[in-house]
Amino acid sequence: MNCPHCHSPKTQKDGQRQLHTGQRVQGYRCTACKKRFNERTGTPMSRLRTPQAVVETALKARSEGLGVRATARVLDKSHNSISKWESRLAAQESKWSPTPGAETEVTLEGDELYTKVEKNRPAHESPG
Ligand SMILES: [Zn+2]
Repeated sequence: MNCPHCHSPKTQKDGQRQLHTGQRVQGYRCTACKKRFNERTGTPMSRLRTPQAVVETALKARSEGLGVRATARVLDKSHNSISKWESRLAAQESKWSPTPGAETEVTLEGDELYTKVEKNRPAHESPG
């Protein structure tokens, strides 16, 4: 893990921090510039108040062809947020590293979202 401040590879693990979402984030300390950072620093998800799983669900829905406004309605977010996440991801796609974890704040079931996406497709593409 390179330091996001001075890009030195000389970094050490420096404990874990628990977010209010329950997600654990590995902390690091740079031995070159002495600054602290964590594994989300410099990624599209850093400083993002929305749980990462919500963002992932939104981006997945968009990739399935759901419109920005429809995605926003499904997730109870503003369409500006959806657009912002998309542009952040597009700008830093190479740094995108979803963190797996059961602890999320998402209440929307994946199947529910998929059902809504399926309805937008032509009938002959739907299974069954
Ligand atoms: Zn540094």
